[in-house]
Amino acid sequence: MKTVAIIGAGIAGLTAARELSGQYNVLILEAVGETGGRCRTMTHNGTRLDLGAGFIQGSVADNPFAAVAAKHGLKWAPLDATRTVYYNGKKLSDVEQKMISDFIVAAPRELQQGHYTGAVNEFYTARKNPLEKIALQMLAGPTETGCDLTELSVHDVADQHETGEFAVITGGWDEFLQNYAAGLNIVYDCAVSAINFTGDQIQITTPQQNFTADYAIVTTSIGILNTGAIQFTPPLPPEQSAALAQLHMGLLDKYFFLLAPRARAGRTGLLGKGRSAVGNLAARKSRSLAGCSGRQLGAAIGTNAAGRCDCGVIGTFV
Ligand SMILES: Cc1cc2nc3c(=O)[nH]c(=O)nc-3n(C[C@H](O)[C@H](O)[C@H](O)COP(=O)(O)OP(=O)(O)OC[C@H]3O[C@@H](n4cnc5c(N)ncnc54)[C@H](O)[C@@H]3O)c2cc1C
Repeated sequence: MKTVAIIGAGIAGLTAARELSGQYNVLILEAVGETGGRCRTMTHNGTRLDLGAGFIQGSVADNPFAAVAAKHGLKWAPLDATRTVYYNGKKLSDVEQKMISDFIVAAPRELQQGHYTGAVNEFYTARKNPLEKIALQMLAGPTETGCDLTELSVHDVADQHETGEFAVITGGWDEFLQNYAAGLNIVYDCAVSAINFTGDQIQITTPQQNFTADYAIVTTSIGILNTGAIQFTPPLPPEQSAALAQLHMGLLDKYFFLLAPRARAGRTGLLGKGRSAVGNLAARKSRSLAGCSGRQLGAAIGTNAAGRCDCGVIGTFV
């Protein structure tokens, strides 16, 4: 049986390994001491906090990952879309909130109809309603895509199919990852530094030991590939290198706030302004979050690597 080496034990690496096991000897080489990559959960005072992915995106019925995830113990609940939304400290009306939700669904369709070409920025500039602008930043801004709307093609946004309701992952990734990785051959703390595919067998270099395989599948992020942490011999084809060099990684920071218990149960969401939201949020916490009736607020505010971001999204997990 031929051997496949898979670099990385995130969701992509684990999924590839499960698909190929039985037909190939599969070996996963993982840089850190655990599986999951950007799907990771920590526990704080008994509360599960997802440090990476926290939502099943798009319609659960259409999301191919949802069925796999459910089978292996991932649990989720529908996102409460009726939550109160604040924007810049002001509570949005139901009409305004619906406008944002409707626009997020409608924008990719409008772009698909082909009235706009080139960069999404033209479409953005044409929006007169500031809420539509902020909704477009949520949908396609640097937080989601890692680049500004001036650099993002209409074609890409039009292709987005995330138009269904989101579901919030509850209870964390641990049980799922344990089940999903069960029986797989994983070498931990084993960061691959070089892959040489000049001979019949692929030579894989790590600080601990070297491995050989018939095939290699690299699932590390674009960010890792762009740092040159893995050296390829021969170098990747020019068209692949050129494509990689043009792809940016978004940087999504999550902030978790513990709020005092309040009498009513509920959920609150906020839309904030990029970097300033962090400072403003702290300063205005008592005022801005006055409508928050839950105990625990999980917040995600995004900036891209250069710190440029017009929009932050704060979601709550009460
Ligand atoms: C804060 C945040 C929130 C997110 N929210 C959502 C969400 O709500 N819904 C959603 O669908 N997606 C979300 N995502 C995106 C989602 O988490 C990722 O798309 C997905 O986890 C990527 O999986 P992957 O296996 O492709 O890569 P990764 O998870 O990055 O896995 C790559 C693995 O490779 C390993 N590795 C790196 N370098 C080496 C090396 N040299 N040698 C060996 N191993 C190496 C890494 O340690 C890692 O385990 C979010 C991401 C972040 C960061």
